[in-house]
Amino acid sequence: MSGRAVHLYPWDGGTEADQDPPEHVYCGTDGDMADEQLTNDWRYVTCKRCLNIHEKELAARAADDRDQKVKLFDEAQAITITLGHRNISTAIKALLRERDELRHERDNLRLDRDGLLEAGAHLL
Ligand SMILES: [Zn+2]
Repeated sequence: MSGRAVHLYPWDGGTEADQDPPEHVYCGTDGDMADEQLTNDWRYVTCKRCLNIHEKELAARAADDRDQKVKLFDEAQAITITLGHRNISTAIKALLRERDELRHERDNLRLDRDGLLEAGAHLL
C-alpha cells in the first residue's frame, strides 16, 4: 500500500470520435498520478474528494427520482380523481373489476349470439 489516494478517472478507452483521455481525475485534483492511483471503478476509489462529489451526485439523482415519482403520482391521481377515486390503487382495483365484468358480459353476449344463430340456421 502506497497510502496515496486512488481517484476516479472516468475513461473507458474513448470512442472512435473522441480518443482523448480526460485531463483531470474526477475530483479535479492536479498533479502527477501513478497508474495505480487511477481507477474507473468506484469500488477502488479512496479519495475523499472524489467520494464526496459522488455522494452528492447520488443524492441529487435520488432527489430527482423522488420529484419525478411525485410528478407521475400527481398525473395519475389527476386521472383517477376524474373517475371518482382519490386513491390510485382503489381506482386501479375498481377498473380491473370493471374490466372483468365487461369481459364476462361480452362472453355471455357471444354465447347468446351463437345460440341464436344456431337456432335460426334451420329457418333459412
Ligand atoms: Zn479524487
